[in-house]
Amino acid sequence: MNKPISIAIDGPSGAGKSTIARVLAKELGYIYVDTGALYRTVGYAVLQRGIDPKDAVAVEALLPNITVSMGYANGEQRVFLNGEDVSAYIRTPEVSMAASTTSAMPPVRRFLFELQQDTARQNNVIMDGRDIGTVVLPFATVKIFLTASAEDRAKRRFLELREKGMDVTYEDVLSDMKERDYNDSHRSAAPLKPAEDAIMVDTSGNTLEESIDILKTLVQKTVKG
Ligand code: C5P
Repeated sequence: MNKPISIAIDGPSGAGKSTIARVLAKELGYIYVDTGALYRTVGYAVLQRGIDPKDAVAVEALLPNITVSMGYANGEQRVFLNGEDVSAYIRTPEVSMAASTTSAMPPVRRFLFELQQDTARQNNVIMDGRDIGTVVLPFATVKIFLTASAEDRAKRRFLELREKGMDVTYEDVLSDMKERDYNDSHRSAAPLKPAEDAIMVDTSGNTLEESIDILKTLVQKTVKG
């Protein structure tokens, strides 16, 4: 097989990365890898064991005792903690914050690195996250940095959570998002920043369909040369 194609999409939460990547992956027949779900699985494991997510020593000590893996069912990525499918438990605000805190710890990033890189070495992938173009797949075929204003992103995330029946307010979602943005961009391990060769796309004010079209055109142009 020729060298697999990899499309890296980085950016802050709520920019539309996962929704857009999922649609594009389906159209292109690539595997969609949601790396945030892997960090969320670690965050979930930490909370489940009653560990304080800020306790770096305890978090590091937990890692050799857990396995995180992923699989696909009906084209959807599922994440497994010690072999158990925990996909349904990782989208709560508590797990979001635990993932944000623990993902700043270098041992956690090392723990998940190979799983991400191996997947891209073996498959055509669209992988989204914070450090895909800069750290995980510096060799990616296409790198996109997707962003939007904090208010736009919080509005989308708020509607998404409400649709799932979660009792959240827009103000809380916006302040959580700003806190996570700050954590992600200011940590010393793999901070959120565009790769030098990333294509910048701002989705503020776009409908989802408009953003999908923009990315589809970009990807098709680059992948086909
Ligand atoms: O993308 P999502 O919001 O699901 O990610 C959850 C958390 O995992 C983020 O707030 C971020 O701190 C972390 N993350 C990361 N690197 C990635 C993907 C996610 O640090 N590649």
